[in-house]
Amino acid sequence: MSLAHPRTGALFDSPVPPGAGWPGDPATVRTAVASTQAQVAAMALAVESPAQLDAEVSVCRACPRLVEWREHVASTKRRSFADQPYWGRPVPGWGAERPRLMIVGLAPAANGGNRTGRVFTGDRSGDVLYAAMHRAGLANSPISVDAADGLVLNGSRVVAAVRCAPPDNAPTPAERATCAPWLTAEWRLTGGNARVIVALGLFGWRSSLDMVRSAGGRVPRPQPKFGHGAAATLVAAHGEVELLGCYHPSQQNTFTGKLTAQMLDDVFGRAAAIAGLSR
Ligand code: SF4
Repeated sequence: MSLAHPRTGALFDSPVPPGAGWPGDPATVRTAVASTQAQVAAMALAVESPAQLDAEVSVCRACPRLVEWREHVASTKRRSFADQPYWGRPVPGWGAERPRLMIVGLAPAANGGNRTGRVFTGDRSGDVLYAAMHRAGLANSPISVDAADGLVLNGSRVVAAVRCAPPDNAPTPAERATCAPWLTAEWRLTGGNARVIVALGLFGWRSSLDMVRSAGGRVPRPQPKFGHGAAATLVAAHGEVELLGCYHPSQQNTFTGKLTAQMLDDVFGRAAAIAGLSR
């Protein structure tokens, strides 16, 4: 059954077919679909532009368990969103095409990015993240509701290392490996101006190191350890990039006080200063 998008009012099936008019949908019915790990690797190597990357990511079907889960959630829905269509597809990177600051998280939330089609949008983690970015001058609004809400990032791009919502927010090692080439391609195509990467959580940290290394960059040895406020200098093809660690803005961390607004402000203020994006 088609349902109305909560902002535009247009009708969509769940999951949303490519090219159906969803706000920000980068794909069309002709976008090539990766169905295996080998196809992801080959297509990620061949992709030539951020727009092509976003489109191909957004229709990827290479991880059977994640495809089944994202589409199951999209069709069954959380009760509070039962009247909304769900994106139900992989969530591409979002923000500036040539960012000075890249933010790397883990994976979309089942009822957040998997519902709205935009990374960290429509859930509590996104509320915390974009509010912190707004305070640091990196977003024009502290509120992230849906893909047509007018939010604009300043010189920043937000990506998930794994592009599909996983059960229990836990992709398997095989799924992480399958999706990794998309992240490497993202760095190759959009990272050439980046001065800072903020890694959200341990997996974001490891994925960021792998991303830079896989694209031909150098990372320190021994491999730098993750921590909130940890920093490491990486050498990418275009020059030095500072990697900053930040606890993931999950409810588990924010509700327990492990991650506070001040701690986020410390990291994002520092990131904005390094990137030359401070107000
Ligand atoms: S997690 Fe990544 S590789 Fe796996 S289906 Fe989703 S987009 Fe494709």
